[in-house]
Amino acid sequence: MTALLLDGKAEAAKLRATLAARVAGLGYKPGLTVVLVGNNPASAVYVRSKDRAASEAGFAATTLRLPADTPHATLLATIAALNADPEVDGILVQLPLPPQINATAVLEAIDPAKDVDGFHPLNAGLLAEGRALLAPCTPRGVMKLLQAAGVQLSGARALVLGRSAIVGKPVAAMLLAANATVTIAHSRTRDLAAECRRAEVLVAAVGAPEMVRGDWVADGAAVIDVGINRLPDGRLVGDCATAECALHASVITPVPGGVGPMTIACLLENTLLAAISRRSA
Ligand code: NAP
Repeated sequence: MTALLLDGKAEAAKLRATLAARVAGLGYKPGLTVVLVGNNPASAVYVRSKDRAASEAGFAATTLRLPADTPHATLLATIAALNADPEVDGILVQLPLPPQINATAVLEAIDPAKDVDGFHPLNAGLLAEGRALLAPCTPRGVMKLLQAAGVQLSGARALVLGRSAIVGKPVAAMLLAANATVTIAHSRTRDLAAECRRAEVLVAAVGAPEMVRGDWVADGAAVIDVGINRLPDGRLVGDCATAECALHASVITPVPGGVGPMTIACLLENTLLAAISRRSA
C-alpha cells in the first residue's frame, strides 16, 4: 500500500477562502490581537504568518510587540485592556513566554470568550465535556484533515501519541467526541510500537524526529503527523518516518505541508466563531 498524501496547504487555503467569504458578509472585521513578548525568532516568523493570513482573510489583525523584559504585571494589565476592548474578538499570547512571566496565569487571565487558542481551563473543560466553542487550533486542524480524507472515525481504534495540553489531550477529546475508541500513549507507555500497530487512526504529537517507523503502522491506517522537528542538517521532519509509514498507511500527512498550515487557518476560524458569538450575545 502507498498512502495518499494529505495536502494540508491546500486544505488550509480552502478553509481560509471560506472564512474570508464569511467575514466579507459580516459587516465588520473580526479583531484578532496577537501578543508577542520578546524576540524569539521562531515566534516572530509564526506571528508574521498569522498576521498576514488574518489580514488577507479580512480580519482586523494587530500584533502587540512587548520587550523581552516586560514584567508579569504589565502583561496582565495588557490582557485586561484587551479583554475590555469591544473591537478585540480574539486574543492570542504567543508562547513561549520569557521566564519572569507565569504563562499559566497569563493564559488564565484571557477572557474565555476571546481565547482563540482554546488554552483557557474553562475552554479545556468544555472540550472535555464535548461542548467547546473555542478549541485548540492544531487539534482542530487534525480533525479537519481526517474529515477531508473521508476517514471513518465512529467506532475506529484511534491512538494519540503524546498527552500535551495543546495537542495530545485535546485531539483525544475530539476523537472521542467523534465516537472513536481512543488510547493516549506517552513516554511511560509500554511497547509503543505494539500500541501503534493496533490503531486504525494514528495521531503522532511527540516532538521526536521520525520516531514512528513503518512497521509501527497497521495496513490501511490513517496517520496524522503533528510533529515538527528540525534536524541538525536544517531539514524539517515529523514524528513519523513518512516514506516508511506511507508504505502501510492509507493516508498520511507530510511534514512540512500537513498539519502545520491548518493551525493558522483554524485560528482564524476560532476568531470568527468568537466574534459571532460575542457580538450576538
Ligand atoms: P510536548 O508538550 O513536548 O509533549 C510531547 C508528548 O510526547 C508528551 O506527552 C510526552 O510524554 C510524549 N513523548 C515524548 N517523548 C516520547 C517518547 N519517546 N515516547 C512516547 N511519548 C513521548 O509537545 P507538544 O507541544 O504536544 O508538541 C508535539 C510536537 O508537535 C512537537 O514536534 C511540536 O513542534 C509539534 N507541534 C506542531 C504544531 C503544528 O502546528 N503543526 C503545533 C503544536 C505542536 P510525557 O507526557 O510522558 O512526557
